[in-house]
Amino acid sequence: NSRRVTRALLSVSDKTGLIDFARALAGHGVELVSTGGTAKAIAAAGLPVKDVSELTGFPEMMDGRVKTLHPKVHGGLLAIRDNDEHTQAMAAHGIPQIDLLVVNLYPFEATVDKGASYEDCIENIDIGGPAMIRAAAKNHDDVAVVVEASDYQAVLDELTANNGATTLPLRKRLAAKAYARTAAYDAAISNWFALQLKTDAPDFRAIGGRLIQSLRYGENPHQTAAFYATPEKRPGVATARQVQGKELSYNNINDTDAAYECVGEFDAARTAACVIVKHANPCGVAEGSSLLDAYKKALACDSVSAFGGIVALNRTLDAEAARAITEIFTEVIIAPDATDEAIAIVAAKKNLRLLLAGALPDPRANGLTYKTVAGGLLVQSRDNAVVDDMALKVVTKRQPTEAELRDLKFAFRVGKHVKSNTIIYAKDLATVGIGAGQMSRVDSARIAARKAQDAAEAMKLAAPMTKGSVVASDAFFPFADGMLACIEAGATAVIQPGGSVRDDEVIKAADDAGIAMVFTGTRHFRH
Ligand code: 5GP
Repeated sequence: NSRRVTRALLSVSDKTGLIDFARALAGHGVELVSTGGTAKAIAAAGLPVKDVSELTGFPEMMDGRVKTLHPKVHGGLLAIRDNDEHTQAMAAHGIPQIDLLVVNLYPFEATVDKGASYEDCIENIDIGGPAMIRAAAKNHDDVAVVVEASDYQAVLDELTANNGATTLPLRKRLAAKAYARTAAYDAAISNWFALQLKTDAPDFRAIGGRLIQSLRYGENPHQTAAFYATPEKRPGVATARQVQGKELSYNNINDTDAAYECVGEFDAARTAACVIVKHANPCGVAEGSSLLDAYKKALACDSVSAFGGIVALNRTLDAEAARAITEIFTEVIIAPDATDEAIAIVAAKKNLRLLLAGALPDPRANGLTYKTVAGGLLVQSRDNAVVDDMALKVVTKRQPTEAELRDLKFAFRVGKHVKSNTIIYAKDLATVGIGAGQMSRVDSARIAARKAQDAAEAMKLAAPMTKGSVVASDAFFPFADGMLACIEAGATAVIQPGGSVRDDEVIKAADDAGIAMVFTGTRHFRH
């Protein structure tokens, strides 16, 4: 898979490092072909260089708009070397083989940044450069393409080490980079156009997104919004089929995603499960013997917040679950599928949106998440850690009972999908108190306990539901106080990542209270 470099085409706007690179290429016996300004610079350094118009038989024209857009250039870049038809075509038309393409583009981004005129920006849209880059990258089996001066050395190192040839792994890496560059270049042009047209929602088709729908407004009515699909294919709100109901809003989509991602944690072959979400946080999660059972248990956690919520289910929606869910005001139901009878029951509520995703998301799947910051984009791999895969370690004298351990895992599984700081009380595979999004872990513990108390009062129970529950924390307890607040609320076992400098203090407090504590070694921050 080595390819000898006999001829290179160089066409660069940014001439940094060009002369040294060209000299080294010439030293390897490479014939240099170049466009106007680049050829001039190389010739001025006393190196032999052929002008591309000599090769094409056409002069550069139209202010440089047409320089390299010619079959003699593109044929030389695109011809497959061990394809007889291609080599015959090259011979018949006098097309010279080009083995190395070195291009950096007209400085469109820099031109925009310096506040240039509309016409100047337009003139700095490179046409021939991206065309050649894309051609060479497509033909990376035979051709190496360099779009950044920082890669000059890597190419020279290979030529030296490899008797004047490039290897396929390098050519592949360079091809991937080449397409990233042309994609970013076109995205910059598209975003500049959006500014010219004064549309405040940039068109994310430019970064590989496909428009699903324009939304009536964003998080608030004075914000504009649209919904895009990324190239990443995961079963979820972006790929689901809307069977009925009003148009989804921005907040509906965000909340439905939170609900479905959470319910995806529950293997449908093992158990039925239900997640109710309000404002992107679960307000009730439960496993059950059926979807109806799971829904009832989830609803009992916080039936007040569940009003106007999003309900996600991990199995085919059936009639009895559909009947119960439609008894209170619900914004969206999402499930992998639904029976005809269930669809008919939901149809009685005209506005209620029913989404069928076809499948459950895999919590262990790889993928990326994005978050915008002012002038930037944070990208990370998704949190695909699952409690079942973690090496759990009991750190207290008392071991959790089997029932406690089952509920601890359940609570930690749910905690992954709740905004930090997160405290989850759970009992009998259902949440009984959820503390979300507090700046202090102690506050999350107290709020969750108070909500459990409210739920108990609403259901006229003798004791708050946290009595005899277990508790999960998304991150370690920095001090014993947060954990003590949970014990005070009635928790008998704790699951948390561990790893605080004061772990010893926290373990001692747990031992003193006679509770069991398990460390996961993995944290589930969600900010
Ligand atoms: P030079 O300084 O060599 O005259 O021009 C180099 C620049 O021209 C590079 O940025 C290259 O991408 C660009 N370029 C090469 N061929 C063409 C073409 O056919 N049309 C346009 N618009 N730009 C080209």
